[in-house]
Amino acid sequence: MKYVLPISVVLCVFASFASHAFYPNKAKYAVSLSFDDARKSQVDIGIPILNKHDVKATFYLMPYHMQGKEQQWKQAADAGHEIANHTASHLCTGNFRWLRKQNKGLEQSSLSFLKQDIKQAQQYIETHTGAAPKGFAYPCGQTFVGRGTEVKSYVPLIAETFSYGRTWNDETANDPFYYDPAQIRAFSMDGKTFEQLKALIEQAKFNNAWIVLAGHEVGKKGPYTVDEHALQQLIQFLKDPKNEYWLATVNDVHEYINKKHE
Ligand SMILES: [Zn+2]
Repeated sequence: MKYVLPISVVLCVFASFASHAFYPNKAKYAVSLSFDDARKSQVDIGIPILNKHDVKATFYLMPYHMQGKEQQWKQAADAGHEIANHTASHLCTGNFRWLRKQNKGLEQSSLSFLKQDIKQAQQYIETHTGAAPKGFAYPCGQTFVGRGTEVKSYVPLIAETFSYGRTWNDETANDPFYYDPAQIRAFSMDGKTFEQLKALIEQAKFNNAWIVLAGHEVGKKGPYTVDEHALQQLIQFLKDPKNEYWLATVNDVHEYINKKHE
């Protein structure tokens, strides 16, 4: 005779392994699309693609790159895209050649400089878009100032100033039951085909995982460019209800999770 497990045991075991619908529209996973630096191709190519598919994304802006495109950035804010802060000076490790040439770098910087730099960007962004950023993305995903024994984290400064901070080039999705809002993890979506992006998402997802993707330019495939065709295919894939993803801005997902935990 075949041994049959009682149905209650089967259901219980199944429930403990299967993820449940945690997000809106019965979605089991959340995905946010984000773009850094206010590159011109984002307003010229990226935002029209997002608008065509009625998708909202998050943009971490820098005043320097916004110049000449302020009107388009205001339109993006008015259309419901999330407008966020990416500092004015974009300091990363001074090992980058472009910072060495200017004698700049996080190693020689201070918390007070960063505080001022972030404030300057916040004021410019707010003046030109009408949106007050609630979110921040760490330039190059780096969260420190100083050298050696004098290194300080600027994560506490971001935690005090913003609702959340996003890093970059990480290797994991966010666990909605664990993540620190001051260090939301993100994968790079630059230079990838749709198949590679799909594989990345499918590999990264776990029970109710929140996957944040971050890119730079939008257009023809390149090392710092989100391929425009891959982006369209990715949006179609994520919007298909059978794939069980909720596609929303970083701040919207963060606030949604926050409310669920109240
Ligand atoms: Zn950047």
